Amino acid sequence: KLHEGELVRKKLHNTILELKGNVRVFCRVRPLLHDEEDVVGTEPLVQYPNSTELMGRGIELVQGQGQKHTFSFDKVFGPEVMQEDVFVEISQLVQSALDGYKVCIFAYGQTGSGKTHTMLGNQDQPEQRGIIPRSLEQIFKTSQALSSTGWSFRMQASMLEIYNETIRDLLARPGNGNEPAKQHVVKHDQNGNTTVSDLSLVDVSNWKEVASLLQRAAQSRSVGKTAMNEQSSRSHCVFTLRLSGMNESTEQQVHGVLNLIDLAGSERLSRSCSTGDRLKETQAINKSLSSLGDVILAIGNKEQHIPYRNSKLTYLLQPCLGGDSKTLMFVNISPDSKSLNESLCSLRFAAKVNACEIGVPRRQTLASRNSESRLRKNGSYCEGSPPD
Ligand code: ADP
Ligand code: MG
Repeated sequence: KLHEGELVRKKLHNTILELKGNVRVFCRVRPLLHDEEDVVGTEPLVQYPNSTELMGRGIELVQGQGQKHTFSFDKVFGPEVMQEDVFVEISQLVQSALDGYKVCIFAYGQTGSGKTHTMLGNQDQPEQRGIIPRSLEQIFKTSQALSSTGWSFRMQASMLEIYNETIRDLLARPGNGNEPAKQHVVKHDQNGNTTVSDLSLVDVSNWKEVASLLQRAAQSRSVGKTAMNEQSSRSHCVFTLRLSGMNESTEQQVHGVLNLIDLAGSERLSRSCSTGDRLKETQAINKSLSSLGDVILAIGNKEQHIPYRNSKLTYLLQPCLGGDSKTLMFVNISPDSKSLNESLCSLRFAAKVNACEIGVPRRQTLASRNSESRLRKNGSYCEGSPPD
């Protein structure tokens, strides 16, 4: 039995989330890096309409010649917003995993837009730590506090990578290199529990243990490729914490899951000059990212059929997407003018999954208007030629 206040809080929380099929989208713009430019002509490329604070809901991209593209999200974080401020906005969502909810937090965006900074951040500087360390720290702290009311939690972490539609266990102990690569098969049972065959599940009870897992995963990720960013930008990285709570006096049980996902870079096919393996990779990335968009959109629209099976990522996360689970997507944006088209693609993708209107640009030629509506109809976010 839940505490009465708890029930009210849950109900309220659910009512708020129900409005959008439990999907929310936050936009985060990273600061300018050295030698980048963030102006188009004389205007700043990224603008924040109707917001005097650092955090608003609107964002505009200026394309030059008075063309603007306006979007609005559940929240927009400008470049000055710190990791801590971002975490404040999501800490309740993280907390709900302890209440038995299934939660997914994604970072979407082109390579270099700040996904890894948002999810993981820099471990060496406390104020630069991202969502994964902050979430775990909060969860450990809260679960400890709950122990005084009879609760005890078991927490298990796993970390995997999906590369070319194939799952790789990032926590597997390195072997001698001669054994065949393991095939990890995803299965869901009737209770919405997911198993991935042969995947390492590690019991964790404090941040130090998690930190060493993250280190192990980072080492595993860098194997076999020259530059680590090369590899990591082409695969999805999924950190999962399973929480099982039991109250010894009330015998109440809760089972929550927290998935924190650093998605593959969303950069478009044309830019990467793809050939051979690269092309296959890029197609796999595009397929899984657009499948993810389709799934979130279908959930938001409360459609009967949700196309989970169209990609490994959506199939893996099926029980944690839709139903009464909670989904948050960060769309990460680079503010430099060279990234304009990519940023526009990312915002369109995010606006689509958020099922919110794309604002009409201030001045728009008929040609670009047609290409924009074609884009939306085809469900593709990037393939059309960008407006002049
Ligand atoms: P991605 O994972 O999307 O490829 P990264 O997270 O690696 O991008 O970010 C690219 C660079 O920008 C990194 O050097 C990172 O430290 C920096 N960066 C990204 N977001 C921020 C931010 N909000 N504040 C400061 N630096 C950031
Ligand atoms: Mg990254």
